[in-house]
Amino acid sequence: MSVTTQLAIRSRNSPMKYIIIDLEWNGSNTRSGYFDEIIEIGAVALDDRMNIVSEFQTLVSPKQTKKLRGRIKELTHITNDDLKNADGFVTVFKRLKAWIGPGDNCMLSWGNSDIGVLYENLTWYNMTDEIYIIKNYCDAQQLCQKALGISLNKQIGLAAFAEQAEVEIGEDQLHRALNDSRLTARCFAKLCTPELLDEFVKKADRVFYERMNFKCYNLQDLSDEQVVFSDFMTKCPECDVYMKRLTTFTCKNKKHYAKYRCALCGRLYNISHTLKITYDGLEHRKTLSEIGGMPATEESDGATEQPAQNAEEAS
Ligand SMILES: [Zn+2]
Repeated sequence: MSVTTQLAIRSRNSPMKYIIIDLEWNGSNTRSGYFDEIIEIGAVALDDRMNIVSEFQTLVSPKQTKKLRGRIKELTHITNDDLKNADGFVTVFKRLKAWIGPGDNCMLSWGNSDIGVLYENLTWYNMTDEIYIIKNYCDAQQLCQKALGISLNKQIGLAAFAEQAEVEIGEDQLHRALNDSRLTARCFAKLCTPELLDEFVKKADRVFYERMNFKCYNLQDLSDEQVVFSDFMTKCPECDVYMKRLTTFTCKNKKHYAKYRCALCGRLYNISHTLKITYDGLEHRKTLSEIGGMPATEESDGATEQPAQNAEEAS
């Protein structure tokens, strides 16, 4: 029996590889709940000079989905017949993993739903840990929108964005995994700068996926221990002093409303408070709408979080 030792030499500065991925999936109700089952994977790999170095494309035969939804067939032109002879997810993922290869990399997709669906599918097959083949992640949509000065609160579709960014769409049929990943790659290659990479490339570690999978929700119950009552104190936008709350809170559509009055200028406001629980904790958002032309004579019902110091300032 002979023993061989293999020595792998890698450059200390081995450049990061960019994997731009796009998935097509079909949502269905299964016995264990709703599942977005992947039916196609497309990806391109770019080197650090933004050259396409290789491509990956395969259909995935669904195991939970009996039939493709009409909308998915319309959008992708993939048929039930097309999927019949394809390999299942477990086999396909092994191939994808081999194609990605070892070493540092950064996965990108247009919007973060693809990475979420990939995680969901791995979890479905008890392969969650396989996700760590991806070392870093970047939402190409965010990076590209930032590059063009488009608000990150907007979700611009890939084709619409490409047009705006004057990136050639070509004759390729969109909503197919490989074509979409190629187009995403062209947008990314055109717009990415070292500064944008610094801002949007994130380490794809356990915390990254915990954050991604965290279901944010709005607090309805103000007696919840996460509520910070001083957050309800609100300053008058005109006078910059704390206002007096005149009413108790009423909850409508998971928002908490109360009337406030500024003792200095007499303005009255309806203020809605939204208390969102995120992975990082409580986010308290307020919207002030002035109640026009009303005299500021309403009496407080006694409910106020106004600190004495500001009450003095205001009087
Ligand atoms: Zn005021």
